[in-house]
Amino acid sequence: MPTNSKHPETVVLHSGYRSDPATNAVAVPIYQTTSYQFRDTQHAANLFGLAELGNIYTRIMNPTNDVLEQRVAALEGGVAALALGSGQAASLFAVQNICHAGDNFVASTDLYGGTWNLFANTLKTMGIECRFVDPADPENFRRATDARTRCYYAETLPNPKLTVFPIGEVAKIGRELGVPLIMDNTASPVICRPLDHGAAIVMHSTTKYIGGHGTSIGGILVDGGNFDWEKHKDRFPMLNTPDPSYHGAVWTQATKPMGPVAYIIKARVTLLRDVGAPMSPFNAFMFIQGLETLPLRMRVHCDNADKVAQHLSKHAKITKVIHPTLMKGEAKKRAETYLSRGMGALVGFELKGGADAGRKFIDNLKMFYHVANIGDARSLAIHPASTTHSQLTPEEQAQTGVTPGYVRLSIGIEHIEDIVADLDKALAAA
Ligand code: PLP
Repeated sequence: MPTNSKHPETVVLHSGYRSDPATNAVAVPIYQTTSYQFRDTQHAANLFGLAELGNIYTRIMNPTNDVLEQRVAALEGGVAALALGSGQAASLFAVQNICHAGDNFVASTDLYGGTWNLFANTLKTMGIECRFVDPADPENFRRATDARTRCYYAETLPNPKLTVFPIGEVAKIGRELGVPLIMDNTASPVICRPLDHGAAIVMHSTTKYIGGHGTSIGGILVDGGNFDWEKHKDRFPMLNTPDPSYHGAVWTQATKPMGPVAYIIKARVTLLRDVGAPMSPFNAFMFIQGLETLPLRMRVHCDNADKVAQHLSKHAKITKVIHPTLMKGEAKKRAETYLSRGMGALVGFELKGGADAGRKFIDNLKMFYHVANIGDARSLAIHPASTTHSQLTPEEQAQTGVTPGYVRLSIGIEHIEDIVADLDKALAAA
């Protein structure tokens, strides 16, 4: 079980594993195997019947992945986790685990574009309706809720707006109505723990800060174990009525001896079994390496980003800098409430010279990488109007927070003087 009482710096090194039971290896081995020998037919039957927990087949579970799952669950203050092949798979599983055709869920409008597309278009083809609402007023979530609403979904620190989501306020509304809040915490691991503020489920694209080195694609879902699915029987038939895909198991009942893990066990043994989007054990190993230094890196990421935001806010060619430290009013209050250990490493800014200046700025960066990614140890930059958002009309771009001169930075852990020098040179040319 997760060692929740320890500090994050300790949890990421020690949770869920001491040494390899077979070899005593201290580093977590990569169990690159598809299958596992059953002791006998009774053992096999017990595993398939969930009477005993153990390894069957790597599409559904793997000992290397298990260590990553236990560590991320402990880091987030949850009870169990499920590693998946990408962040996109984690977002899909998070919703599909409790929503089927005819159901709906309510999501914040401030979402990563890939998630938005998955929710607005792909889930629609499956008969699942996503109702997008503006998170500036938490009550919008209540207003969009009806008897077929199965969950709320939002990002802690969405870009490009970087306005922190009102986690506690929306979680409270959800708990009044029996609706769990699912938080994408990709941009804010360690610095925010959504479960502490009432969220029920957390997901990450581990591709970003958890991996930290831009080597592997992965995702993870964490079950907070803090939502009473049984109390809201009518809202969650998929967890409270016999599941024909698993010899009639009622998940809230079948998982009781294992603790409050109905949601995550169902996701593993039905969705992962059927959809087949597992994380490879090699990538789990890479994420375990990344996780070990995550709290350290987040400290430097956040510290550097604060300094970059301050520096850019005084630059003559910049009209606006977007960073939680520079926000006012409600947005500032939310940032201070929910980002308790740092304000994140994303910084946005607008150039006076518009789209042309944005392109020139990017083309004159020497150290920053020009990539469509965030959360790497290296500093990254992108000009959304000419890349990720170029298919949208100027009006649509504005709705998502992207103006022609907007540039997004993902600040890395290089020395701050080198980061600022690279930005200053590119700004001089913009
Ligand atoms: N959530 C957020 C906030 C992201 O930024 C991304 C990817 O950029 C994803 C989810 C999707 O993750 P992946 O690329 O690992 O599928």
